[in-house]
Amino acid sequence: MEERKVVLVTGGTRGIGKEIAKEFANMGYDVIINFVSDNTDIKALEEEFSKLGSKAIFIKADVSDFTSCEKMVKEGIEAFGRIDVLINNAGITKDNLLMRMKEDEFDKVIDINLKGVFNVTKQVIPYMLKKREGNIINLSSVVGICGNAGQCNYSASKAGIIGFTKSLAKEVASRNIRVNAVAPGFIATDMTEVLNDTIKEAINTQIPLKRMGEAKEVAKVVKFLASDDASYITGQVINIDGGMVM
Ligand code: NAP
Repeated sequence: MEERKVVLVTGGTRGIGKEIAKEFANMGYDVIINFVSDNTDIKALEEEFSKLGSKAIFIKADVSDFTSCEKMVKEGIEAFGRIDVLINNAGITKDNLLMRMKEDEFDKVIDINLKGVFNVTKQVIPYMLKKREGNIINLSSVVGICGNAGQCNYSASKAGIIGFTKSLAKEVASRNIRVNAVAPGFIATDMTEVLNDTIKEAINTQIPLKRMGEAKEVAKVVKFLASDDASYITGQVINIDGGMVM
């Protein structure tokens, strides 16, 4: 019998991360799902994932905390013995024009979005190197490519993820580990729900496909990048944005 593969998804209890975790569970992966919020209804999530026929464990850890990430990955390895795919998805926004942006708003976004990718990847990569096999997919954003007023902190973090992705891809390609990023545009999740209808309308007019994307539409591309169908793709950033950035 073929051994079951394992995926670790950071920030996987809602939004894009949850859709990614479900996509992998549906493929027969066992899933390690990370979250940080105390309000998370783990019991409901356990029931939801058990219906998908995969083993799922939920680990609370703040990705901006190096020691918590060390513990999380150790716990995941103890449970399943391996991590084949890492999805660095956890992320936040704290939007403000630079003139008004507080130091804490800048630091927090960089610490979670960018340092978090380092913290988790640093813990997972030794297992992949040892196995000489692995797949890492990082959630960047189109604003990391083209910028966005009010998001100096967020777009810097997402641009940083692109540099991280390309550098690591070059470091580990010889060990059969592929590292890619996706750059979503505007996807309907809690993150974009805070925007008012006027802003949403204005955004839609700038999108050639004239609508926001769905979390599932991101999850499908992530699934492709982790699959053998993408075996010759590494160090790339795939935009999933309805044509917003060409
Ligand atoms: P979301 O609905 O706001 O969910 C964010 C997820 O990140 C939650 O699961 C949250 O966990 C987790 N998270 C936040 N801080 C964390 C921390 N310190 N440690 C661990 N987990 C943490 O966001 P989303 O829209 O699904 O976005 C997912 C990723 O896609 C993010 O990296 C985001 O920047 C990127 N993205 C989103 C869009 C978009 O339009 N939605 C566009 C481009 C890129 P809890 O539930 O426990 O709080």
